[in-house]
Amino acid sequence: MARVIGIDLGTTNSCVAAFQDGQPVVIPSSGGYKVTPSVFAMTADAEHLVGHPARRQAITNAENTVFASKRLIGRRFDSAEVQRSLELYPYRIFEGPNEDPRISISDQTFTCSEVSAVVLREMKRIAEEFLGESVDSAVITVPAYFNDTQRQATRDAGRIAGLDVLRIINEPAAAALAYGMAHDGEEKIAIYDLGGGTFDMSILEMSDGVVEVVATAGNTFLGGEDFDQRIVDHLVGNFESEHGIDLRSDAMAMQRLKDVAEKAKCILSQRESTEINLPFLASDGEGPRHLTCELSRDQLEALVEDIVEGTLKSVEQCVLDAGLEPKDIDHVVVVGGQSRMPMVQEAVAEFFGQRPHKGVNPDEVVALGAAIQGCALVDGTQDVLLLDVTPLSLGISTAGGHFARIIDRNSTVPVNKSHPFTTTRDDQSAVKIRVFQGENDMALENDLLGEFVLAGIPSAPKGEPEIEVSFDIDSSGIVSVSARDMASGMKQSITVNAKSTLSEEELDLIIEENAQFDVQPRG
Ligand code: AMP
Repeated sequence: MARVIGIDLGTTNSCVAAFQDGQPVVIPSSGGYKVTPSVFAMTADAEHLVGHPARRQAITNAENTVFASKRLIGRRFDSAEVQRSLELYPYRIFEGPNEDPRISISDQTFTCSEVSAVVLREMKRIAEEFLGESVDSAVITVPAYFNDTQRQATRDAGRIAGLDVLRIINEPAAAALAYGMAHDGEEKIAIYDLGGGTFDMSILEMSDGVVEVVATAGNTFLGGEDFDQRIVDHLVGNFESEHGIDLRSDAMAMQRLKDVAEKAKCILSQRESTEINLPFLASDGEGPRHLTCELSRDQLEALVEDIVEGTLKSVEQCVLDAGLEPKDIDHVVVVGGQSRMPMVQEAVAEFFGQRPHKGVNPDEVVALGAAIQGCALVDGTQDVLLLDVTPLSLGISTAGGHFARIIDRNSTVPVNKSHPFTTTRDDQSAVKIRVFQGENDMALENDLLGEFVLAGIPSAPKGEPEIEVSFDIDSSGIVSVSARDMASGMKQSITVNAKSTLSEEELDLIIEENAQFDVQPRG
C-alpha cells in the first residue's frame, strides 16, 4: 500500500501525521519536535534553512527570513492583505509577472508556492526519516475559507515539493475527522479554529463515520499574527513616547519586538502579568536605549478585544447559515494555537453556553485528521466519509457588472450546477465569461478567479442564443467552468486558473529546478 501522510501546513507551524499500527500518529522530527515552524531562510553563504534553525536565526537575519507566507499565497499583489504585509514583514515582497506577490531573500526570488513547498518538503523529509521509507502522497489541509486560487497555489506547492496531493481538505473538517474517530453517535459540533494567520468557523454533523460540514465562515487574514502585532504597536508607541525614537524602520528591532511580543502573549495565557525586557533596542546621542515594561493579561485583552469580537461575528453567521441556534450544538471544539488564550476560550464558551471540549490537542488534531482522510482515500480501511462545503458563492459577471450566483456558499462539494445565459446585442458572436467567488452583488467586489471567451456563436437577435454556463467544484474545492452555445454545440471550458497562480509551464520549470533539493531516506 502506498504510504500517505497528512500535513497541516500552518501559517506559523506545520505538523505531519501518518497511520501506524492502525492509529493516526503525529510524526516528530529527529529533534523531537512535533511541530515545525513554517519559516524559511537563506544565510549569507546561501544555505537554505527551514523550520527551527530558520526560526532561531530570524532576529539576526530578519530580511532573509520568510514567515507567515501562507498569508500571501494565492492572493493578488494589489490586494489589501498583501499591501498590509508589505508594511509588516521584514523580507522583500514584490509584484511578480502574474500580478502575484513574490518574495526575494538573499537576491533569490521565490513564488509563494515555492516557499510553501520548502516547508512541505521538510515535512515530507521528517516523515520519511521517521518511517524509514519514501513518501509520495499527501493530504494537505487549508483554511476552510481559502478560495479557489489559494487552494490551487497550495496544491502547486505540494507538487513542487514532490508530493502527489491526493486531496486538499479544510482544516476544521480535518479536526472533525480526528475528533470523530474517538466519538460515536450523532452529534452536531462547532469547530472554532484560530491559528497563526487564519480563522475558520465550521458547524458539522457527525454520525457513524460520516462527517458533514453544514456551514462554514471565517477570515483568511486574521490570526495570532494580528495579536502579536497589537502588542508590537503598543510597545513601539510607548518606546516612542518615552525616548522619542521610532523603531518602525529598524528591521532587527522590529523582529526582536515581534519575538518578545509572541512570547509575552503565550505567557499571558498562563499568568496574569509578564515582564518584557529588550536591552540595547536602539540608541541615540545619549547612548543605548533599553525597553523594560510589564504587560498584564488585562492590558493584552484590551489591545485585542475587537479582534476576538470580530471572530464571534463569523461564529454567529455560521450558526445562522446552519439554520441552528447556539444551544443546538452538542460539542464545541477549539483548534489552532491562538485559541489557547483564555479570553478566546471564554468568548467561545459564553457564545455557546458551554465550555469547549478539552480532549484534543489544538496543534496536532488537524494533521491527524488529514492522515485519517489520506488513509480513507488510499486503502479504505478508515470508514469515514467527509462531506465538505464550498465556503464562498461562485458565479459570473453579467451586464452592468452584477454578480450572477451559480453555486451558493455552503453547498456540499463535489457539486455541479448549470445556468442559461444569453447575449445582450444583436449578432453578438462571442461572450466573455468572467468567473468570480464571493458574496457581493457587484462582481468586481468579489475575487476574480479567471476568465475565458466563448466565440463562434451563430448570428441571432440579442436574447435568443442560449449559452449554458456550468460550474464544477471537486472534492478539494477546485473549480472548473465551462460554457456551451446550445445551438452550435460550441464549448469552452477551463479549470479556472487565476492569473496569479502558476501556469502549467511555469510549474514544470519550478519542479525541475527544485528537484536539486530532493532527498532520499537513508538506509
Ligand atoms: P497555529 O497556526 O495553530 O500553529 O497557531 C499559531 C499561533 O498560536 C501563533 O500566533 C502562536 O503565537 C499562538 N499560540 C501558541 N500557543 C499559544 C498560547 N499558549 N497562548 C496564546 N497564543 C498561542
